[in-house]
Amino acid sequence: MAETTDVAIIGGGAAGCAVSYYLAQLGVKSTIIEREGLGNQASGNSAGGLNPLTGVGIPGPLAAFGWECFQLHADLYAGLKHQSGIDYQHRTVAKIDLAMEESEIDGLKETAVRMDAVEGFEAHWLEPEDVAKLEPRIAPGILGGMYDHGNTGVDSYKLTNAFAAAATEMGATVRVGNVQGLEGNSGKIDRVILEDGEISCGQVVMAMGPWSRRAESWLGIYIPVDPLKGEILRLELEGDRIKYDISGGGASIYPKLDGLNWCGTTEDWNGFDREPSEKVAKEIRKRLARVFPDLADAKLAKHTACLRPVTPDWLPVLGRAPGWENVYLATGAGKKGILLATGIGRSIADLMTTGETALSIQRFSPERFATQLE
Ligand SMILES: Cc1cc2nc3c(=O)[nH]c(=O)nc-3n(C[C@H](O)[C@H](O)[C@H](O)COP(=O)(O)OP(=O)(O)OC[C@H]3O[C@@H](n4cnc5c(N)ncnc54)[C@H](O)[C@@H]3O)c2cc1C
Repeated sequence: MAETTDVAIIGGGAAGCAVSYYLAQLGVKSTIIEREGLGNQASGNSAGGLNPLTGVGIPGPLAAFGWECFQLHADLYAGLKHQSGIDYQHRTVAKIDLAMEESEIDGLKETAVRMDAVEGFEAHWLEPEDVAKLEPRIAPGILGGMYDHGNTGVDSYKLTNAFAAAATEMGATVRVGNVQGLEGNSGKIDRVILEDGEISCGQVVMAMGPWSRRAESWLGIYIPVDPLKGEILRLELEGDRIKYDISGGGASIYPKLDGLNWCGTTEDWNGFDREPSEKVAKEIRKRLARVFPDLADAKLAKHTACLRPVTPDWLPVLGRAPGWENVYLATGAGKKGILLATGIGRSIADLMTTGETALSIQRFSPERFATQLE
């Protein structure tokens, strides 16, 4: 019998699974089509930080949406954990951002003032001796740091799977499959073509992350999303657990509830290469030696490499595909795709069901790249 679905969602990362979840909440059934396992790409191997106050585009064009997504995460946790049966460990984190160079001090002090003014956040400058009191294993010679408390974090593999599990509970389906193309006419797609069959559909969501450009030839539009490789070493540390996320000198340290310290993260434009690299591992350990020497030689539990979906303006691409009545783009979340997953899911589900959303996604319209391909 021919397969059929109301909404075909191509890609089972955080974006695709969140869209499926929010659609299900509005009573719309979808099929998530994923070729390599739910959350097995960047969405399952990210640092899982939900930081709405700093990063690319914040302050700036991503700030309002980032904040909305942060609030959606907070409101979502208890219900999604219950409904999915997956505790994805949404929790508040404390962080120390170290100043390694004089030139970094003013910026960190300014950020501390800005963060401290936000309700629910606390931030202040630390002199080197204050840093040592909080975490004596941080390398001597640092010039101080910013302490902040109020950001949250999740296990992003579990979050992605929680979205999918709760959506499935409400009637969604997960289909293993590698999408090869789309078929339709008069501005409407009506079939998704897979290696092993095809699925008739009412609407389509493209949530293919760094592989989104593959759909340019299917839809005849630009979807300028390129892969930015990021690697993380999960390291075992003897002795007391580290209590703070720590960053400085190009190193970031995330002590996770799995007992491992996730250290990285790197950024390389290296095409679709997803191989963990020995050279990058050495670079991460070199950076750690300057910041937290005990970790520089710590035992490796796992080394991951995956690809962030990045657009030319570092902003996501959210909304109806130009020239198509029933195709939506949910991609390009770059370095913030776990934070943005809630807002991506909610806003795309809103647009698909009502044609509008209250979330601040106006600047992320696919129309900004709307030149039609031949
Ligand atoms: C090292 C690192 C650290 C990060 N840390 C953070 C962080 O702390 N906070 C944060 O918010 N973000 C972070 N990110 C970014 C975040 O992980 C990504 O933005 C996010 O995971 C992107 O989600 P996605 O669903 O768009 O893409 P993906 O997770 O890549 O999912 C896309 C899915 O589509 C599938 N797919 C593609 N083409 C097809 C096809 N033809 N047929 C079937 N399936 C297909 C793929 O298999 C994949 O599973 C980090 C990323 C990296 C690499």
